Amino acid sequence: MSRPNLTMAERRPTRQIFVGKVPVGGDAQVSVQSMTTTKTADVEGTLRQIYSLAAAGADIVRCTCNEEEAAEGLAHIVPRSPVPIVADIHFHYEMALAALDAGVACLRLNPGNLRKPEEIKLVASEARDRRVPIRIGVNAGSLHPDLYKKYGGATPEAMVESAQRELELFAEVDFFDVKISVKASNVPLMVESYRMLSQAVDHPLHLGVTEAGPPPAGLIKATAGIATLLAEGIGDTIRYSLTADPVEEARAGRQLLEALGLRERKGLDLIACPSCGRAEIDVIALAKEAQTELEKLGFPIQVAVMGCVVNGPGEAREADLGIAGGKHKGHLFIRGKIVRVVNEDRMIEELVSEAKYLMEQGVEARLLAADPTAESEAAADREELFKLSGSDPNATAGRIESIRRRVTPTE
Ligand code: SF4
Repeated sequence: MSRPNLTMAERRPTRQIFVGKVPVGGDAQVSVQSMTTTKTADVEGTLRQIYSLAAAGADIVRCTCNEEEAAEGLAHIVPRSPVPIVADIHFHYEMALAALDAGVACLRLNPGNLRKPEEIKLVASEARDRRVPIRIGVNAGSLHPDLYKKYGGATPEAMVESAQRELELFAEVDFFDVKISVKASNVPLMVESYRMLSQAVDHPLHLGVTEAGPPPAGLIKATAGIATLLAEGIGDTIRYSLTADPVEEARAGRQLLEALGLRERKGLDLIACPSCGRAEIDVIALAKEAQTELEKLGFPIQVAVMGCVVNGPGEAREADLGIAGGKHKGHLFIRGKIVRVVNEDRMIEELVSEAKYLMEQGVEARLLAADPTAESEAAADREELFKLSGSDPNATAGRIESIRRRVTPTE
């Protein structure tokens, strides 16, 4: 069920460019990017990784183009890739020209690495003639030395000026098909740089926290930066830069956009309660197993694993499907309504088979097929559990009482 997105600022209007067939900016949905870690000259290995990235949610994939063999590899990869390919150019403008010859859908230039104006303008002219966009990829760690000097370090002003200088060179050869990134590994610097840039230009922005590191810290840093900006309406395409299998990057990007309501759910969304003294099942173990088994199905559904039938089905009533622990049994529910009571040792199998039925038949049909005795069985279970642990299953009231007795001086 779709709802209006109440938490996000309106998207900042940007001009639209096309990376291959993928629109970026304007009214296009925010796209997910990732980067291969293979040698680009290894055509089959790189293509295998590109297919995995696309399956995990990447709309656009970047490959390094640092040597002639890599450019030749791109000539083989581009026509067989399921998504548009961006070539990452390091220090040599010839590699940018070679990547254009290979047929890539976009170039990424780092103004701190490729510095000679005549070379930059030559690349921009060639890109213009072939209608290939360029990402100006400014990086706090590799700014032009005179910008470090002028601003006393990598500041948001220095990052934005770096992008603007490159834009001016592009404008000299009538090239405007540009998206921009101003990445830093420092999240506040990255956030502020993008905010400043979004005030200065109307080009689409590619968001990322560079060198975020391995998960989970890397995921947290990247999410802090990217999500903050997206919530402010800034950003048209995103990349998680993780020290991990790039499939994790693509998956994280996709999941973030789904969590923010910026993209339709493509796969499983498993939610679970944090568990407490009322739990009748091992929520952590069951949630992990459910995640593994349900992910294999690849259904775009939300499934809840809840520790008890007392609160679980009600708290997770928005989920398409769920299971809640009862006394040695599991209560299967659809949109908060109990449809079947199953044995404790069959909870995962029943959850998986109900997910399949739900996808085949739809919510209404599955609610109609509910076991008519399931609700009353759940009510009886609820009552029994309630009698056992009352309204304070964690015994919090008793603990507080004893704390008060200890710290409150007696008269
Ligand atoms: S009350 Fe039930 S659903 Fe809520 S956290 Fe505790 S076990 Fe989970």
